Amino acid sequence: MSDSQRSFRPEPSICPFCGVGCGIEYNERSGKASGWKGPVNTKGEICPKGAAAFDVVDHDDRLTQPLVRESGTFVTATWEQAFERIEEGFGEILAESGAEALSFFASSNCTNEENYLFQKLARSLGTNSVDNCARLCHASTVAAMVDRLGAGAMTNTLDDLCEADVFFATGANPAEQHPVIFRSYLLPAIRDGTDLIHVDPRENDTTEAATIHLPVKPGYDIPLLNALAAVIVEEGLHDEEFLEERTTGVEEYLEFLETVDVEENAELAGVDPDDLREAARLFGEADRAAAFTGMGMSQHHYGTDNVHALINLALLTGNVGKAGTGVNPLRGQNNVQGAGDLGTLPNVLPGYEPVEDEEARARVADVWGVEPPTKPGLTETEATHHFGDEIRGAYVFAENPVLTEPNANEVRRAFEKLDFCVVQDVFLSETAEYADVVLPGSVWAEKSGTVTNTDRQVMRMRPNADLPGDARRDLDIITELGTRLAAVSDREIPEDAFDFDGPAAVFAELTEVSPIYAGMRYEVIGTDSLRWPFPEGASEGVGVLHEEAFESGERTAELRPIHHVDPADVVGEDELILTTGRVIQHFNSGELTRRSETLMRMRDEDVVQIHPDDAEERGIEDGDTVRIENDRGSVTVAAAVTPIIRPGTVFTTFHFDDPAINEVTPDELDPVAKIPEYKHSAVRVRLEE
Ligand code: SF4
Repeated sequence: MSDSQRSFRPEPSICPFCGVGCGIEYNERSGKASGWKGPVNTKGEICPKGAAAFDVVDHDDRLTQPLVRESGTFVTATWEQAFERIEEGFGEILAESGAEALSFFASSNCTNEENYLFQKLARSLGTNSVDNCARLCHASTVAAMVDRLGAGAMTNTLDDLCEADVFFATGANPAEQHPVIFRSYLLPAIRDGTDLIHVDPRENDTTEAATIHLPVKPGYDIPLLNALAAVIVEEGLHDEEFLEERTTGVEEYLEFLETVDVEENAELAGVDPDDLREAARLFGEADRAAAFTGMGMSQHHYGTDNVHALINLALLTGNVGKAGTGVNPLRGQNNVQGAGDLGTLPNVLPGYEPVEDEEARARVADVWGVEPPTKPGLTETEATHHFGDEIRGAYVFAENPVLTEPNANEVRRAFEKLDFCVVQDVFLSETAEYADVVLPGSVWAEKSGTVTNTDRQVMRMRPNADLPGDARRDLDIITELGTRLAAVSDREIPEDAFDFDGPAAVFAELTEVSPIYAGMRYEVIGTDSLRWPFPEGASEGVGVLHEEAFESGERTAELRPIHHVDPADVVGEDELILTTGRVIQHFNSGELTRRSETLMRMRDEDVVQIHPDDAEERGIEDGDTVRIENDRGSVTVAAAVTPIIRPGTVFTTFHFDDPAINEVTPDELDPVAKIPEYKHSAVRVRLEE
């Protein structure tokens, strides 16, 4: 395939990678992406990934025809043949075991309209087992924030955060993971005098801009956050007026903090107690302190509690409800916020209303003509644990769980147990290898619709390219399958339930269903953005949340003692802690970035960072191939011996299929958010013979 066979044009769209949501479009001179002056990248700035976003659009490996499995191998099929096979496969499961035997994996790098219709399909058929990969990144953050504050999103906007005196970034490396936020918002403020406290087991590009670095031991965030809070109270730096007016549970929380031994907690967290005290003073004395939280906090089997401890710190110091403050999760994929907002979660409907809420279900049923089921569904990780028994069929939409779920060898075995699996994607991903039918969908540059970025801005995507071969737009595939599967369901689903004339029509329906999007109009968005919450009748969305009252509707939020829980994996004497993360050149499972020649030229392999002391003990030298293993799996990777990683911990990414690092990560789940413990695996690291 080449440019001469495909038609490209510049139209303002949104980058398909991270949750910053930069405006990008086709550049006719370079054949690459350029930034346009979007709502977030107001000067048109983009990072290397955004610049390479067209590399996959015209890639030779693109799927251009449906594939169906015949006698164990894929053969090409017409769309009609593929749809009939799906009607038959899912129809049989629906008839024999009901919709609860199906699991739907939605996609946080697809549009709001696609995700909305995807969950509508699952729920119309009769199951709430629909989830997206937010489960694997910020599910715990959302759970804690909805519970305490009433909204699971950044409390503030990128613009107002520049007013902070102190940034507190924990478990996040925005310099590499959210480069435009870092360079265009945080760094200018830092150069203007804002202090940055960086909590991370590694010194990375973000640390270079920090006033204080606290190299926390993975899995020990709660002792660190509690110790910071204890020092703040010890030194009288808490905000008594805010505590009195806007919080409950103060007495119990302060009593709890009296029991916190700062030195002991610092030792547990592996940080210098003097540095910890200095950080607490900086945070406590600031007029405005803004916290940023990332997957270093959320991806633990008690990730929800980590975020609760951070919320305590913000409430204790009155840093909620005003410009330059708040608790601000930096979201991963370009539409991970929107995928959750529009209900691709097994426990909530669009707008985060619980599926058990009778009134909310009735309101949805009024629009859909069929009621969503009452019982919360399975998360995507839970679903894989039940493949082959409770779950017989799966519809995986533009996700790659075989690489992204923890304990990957078990996940592969689980996919083999399914009776029927459909994968809708643009490449034959590692997960697609397990499918019975593969549907060739569309990449970002071929679709219209909206996405919602990390600071709640809903923005429009526009096609910059035609579709290759027989590939179809994802929205068209979902509407067609919706209509066909509704017809084989025994539920009374209206014939026109999936009859939509493009994304604007879907958007109009989703605003009827999701209260936080209720007042938005598709045509009003233009090349600007609309921010949620945007209630019906409002003239604009809300910027800083929780100003007069919390989004829960209450004037007060609860302070809550949070106790440390040990990580799931016990680290043996010869073992190290493996923690994982991203690098600037690649993204998530790397399905898109590993196919980009530009990005692979910048970085074409994974390495494991290991401290010189740990390397010496094991006879490992820089560049050696090492084996990382535990009872779950075993992979090999090149060693990068460096003092930037704390002793006792090793770091690598999850971007590559070799090593597929999730072979060794544990699938212990947070009891509330069901997020897996990616950030703390006990591993043996040795020189490969
Ligand atoms: Fe894309 Fe994120 Fe880079 Fe912006 S910062 S260009 S959204 S990857």
